[in-house]
Amino acid sequence: MSEREEALKAIAAANAVVGELCEGHRQWIMSIPARPDFDPDLVIGNALHLAEKMIRALEAQLAHEEAENAVSEELIKRSRTRIAALEARAEARVCEWTLDDPDFGAWHTGCGHLFEFIADGPSENGAKFCQYCGGTLNALTGGASA
Ligand SMILES: [Zn+2]
Repeated sequence: MSEREEALKAIAAANAVVGELCEGHRQWIMSIPARPDFDPDLVIGNALHLAEKMIRALEAQLAHEEAENAVSEELIKRSRTRIAALEARAEARVCEWTLDDPDFGAWHTGCGHLFEFIADGPSENGAKFCQYCGGTLNALTGGASA
């Protein structure tokens, strides 16, 4: 039985005992030896103890979740800022590619690399960004190998 179920069961038992006491069906007795499942003081005391324990556990869990949420929100905020900065940087930077040799499909990148497509050029292969510098790819010969 979970702690929650145990606390709810104890509270239900305490309510039943209180009801029986109020209606005169039971007397406020303390047994010797004590009977935790029967003596009103023990049944009610146990319910109060478990209810307090549950409330304290829920408070601790809530505080933990709030702390985690604050960390998550901060990470999301920082990530959004970083993404916006990267998008702005990528939009601002253009890498101009020039076709080196139409017979081989080799391209010189604006950032100093040589890249060869197996077939066709950047636009036919869906290349929109330079894989070396991250800049927006601008194929100066129109994008297709001649
Ligand atoms: Zn580049």
